[in-house]
Amino acid sequence: MTSVITILGRPNVGKSTLFNRLSRSRDALVDDIPGITRDRLYASVHWGDRTFTLMDTGGFDEVGDEPFMDLVREQVRKAVEESDIIIFMVDGRQGIMPGDEEIAHMLRRSGKKVFLAANKIDGPEHEGLTADFYRLGVEKVFPLSAAHGYGLKALMNEVVKELPEETPEENDEAVRVAVLGRPNVGKSSLVNRILGSERVLVSDIPGTTRDSVDIRFTRRGRDYVLIDTAGIRRKSKVREKIDKFSMIKAVKSLDRCHLAVVLLDASEGVVEQDARICGYALDRGRGLILGLNKWDLVKHDPDTRRRLLSALDRQLKFVSFAPRITLSARTGEHVGKLFEKIDHLSDQYGKRIGTGEVNRVLEKIFQLKPPPLTGKGRLKFFYATQIDVRPPTFVLFVNRPELIHFSYERFLANQFRERFGLDQTPIRIFFRKR
Ligand code: GDP
Ligand code: GDP
Repeated sequence: MTSVITILGRPNVGKSTLFNRLSRSRDALVDDIPGITRDRLYASVHWGDRTFTLMDTGGFDEVGDEPFMDLVREQVRKAVEESDIIIFMVDGRQGIMPGDEEIAHMLRRSGKKVFLAANKIDGPEHEGLTADFYRLGVEKVFPLSAAHGYGLKALMNEVVKELPEETPEENDEAVRVAVLGRPNVGKSSLVNRILGSERVLVSDIPGTTRDSVDIRFTRRGRDYVLIDTAGIRRKSKVREKIDKFSMIKAVKSLDRCHLAVVLLDASEGVVEQDARICGYALDRGRGLILGLNKWDLVKHDPDTRRRLLSALDRQLKFVSFAPRITLSARTGEHVGKLFEKIDHLSDQYGKRIGTGEVNRVLEKIFQLKPPPLTGKGRLKFFYATQIDVRPPTFVLFVNRPELIHFSYERFLANQFRERFGLDQTPIRIFFRKR
C-alpha cells in the first residue's frame, strides 16, 4: 500500500501548482484524458524509485459559508488522519500570515512528519525572505518555487526519505478485487450478494487494515480477496459526509487491488464522478470492469439503455478497453457472469509474453508502419522486453526516446493489445535510451 502525502496550507499559496507539477505526465496514455486530470485531487506520483499518493487540498476553500478558520481546522484534521506525511505550504514572499500559526500548531501536536515549504521563492534572490518562518517552530524551511521548480529536488528528496518501507506484495495467487463507485450505486448490495452466494466459501479470518477489511474467499476452486473499503459491508447508518475527502478510501483500496469493479447506476447514466473513479483506476494501472448495476430497472426500457451505452462510449472512452457487464445486485442477475469477467481479465492482467515473441511481433509492427521520420531525426528500435505483470509492462530500447510521438505510442499500445491478447487490460510501455 503506498503512502499518502498531503499538501496543505492557506488558499493561494500554490498548493495546486505543486500538485500539478509533481503529478504531471509520466504516462502519456493516462494523462491525455481531458477532464479527468484537470481537477483530480489524488495522483500517483513517482519520485526517484519511490511511489506515493499525493493529495491536493486546493479548492476546499470555496465550499460553503463556514468561517474560514473552521474550514482550515477541518481540513487539517482530515489531512492528518489520512496521510503519512504533510507538506505544509506557506507564501514565502508574504511572510507568516493569519492562520499559518494555528495550522503549524495543530500539525506539531499531530506528531506527523511535516515539511514546511516556503513557496513563490522563484530564485536565490528571494531566499532571504524565508528565515522568518522558523518562528513557526519547524526544524527546516524549504524554499520552493512550485511554478518554476526551484528547490523542488531538495524538498522532495527529503520527503521521500521519510516514506515508510513498502511492504512487498503478498505472494499468493488470489485475485484482489475492489468494488468501487459513488454512493448508492449498489456496492454493499453487490458485496453482500457475492459473499452470500452458495458457491462462495468465505474464510474465517479477515485481514484488517486501518482503512479496509480484506475478505478472502474461494469460488469454484479459485481464490479471491475482496477489499471491502470500510463501510461497504457493514455500512453505518450515518452516511459519511460527502466531501472531497470521501474518495480517499476508494483511492487507497485501488492501491491494494488488482482489479476494480466500478459500479455505475444504469438508471441514472454516467456522471462525472464515475469518470473520475475510472481515471484513478487507470492512473494506477489497475484492471477495470464497468458494472452497469440496477439493470433490472432499465432492461425493459430501450431508450434509457441506448442513452446509457452512448454515454459510456462518450464519457468513458479513455477506458474503452475495460470489459462491461450489466447486472443487478438486487436480483442477482449476472453476478455469476461477473466472475467470468474477473477471471478473464485477471489472466490478461498477469500475462507474461516471452522476450522472443515480443521482438518478433514488434518487427512485424514496424514493417506494417515504421516510426515516422521527424525533422529531428529517425527513431530506431533495438530491443524490447516485458519487465512486469499486473499490468503487463514493456520496455522498448531506442536510440532517442524524445523522438517518439504520442500517436505512434498509442498505435504501438493498440498493436500490443491486439497481438498479445491484452485487449481488456491496461498496459504500460516505456521507452529507454540504449
Ligand atoms: P492554491 O490555492 O494553494 O492551490 O494555489 P495555486 O496553486 O492555485 O496558486 C495560487 C497562485 O500563486 C497562482 O496564481 C499561481 O500561479 C501562483 N504561484 C504558485 N506557485 C508559484 C511560484 O512558485 N511562484 C510564483 N511567483 N507564483 C506561484
Ligand atoms: P452503496 O452506497 O453503493 O453501497 O449502495 P447500496 O448497496 O447501499 O444500494 C443503494 C440502494 O440501491 C439500495 O436501496 C439498494 O437496495 C438499491 N440497489 C442496489 N442494487 C440494486 C439493483 O441492482 N437494482 C435495484 N433496483 N436497486 C438496487
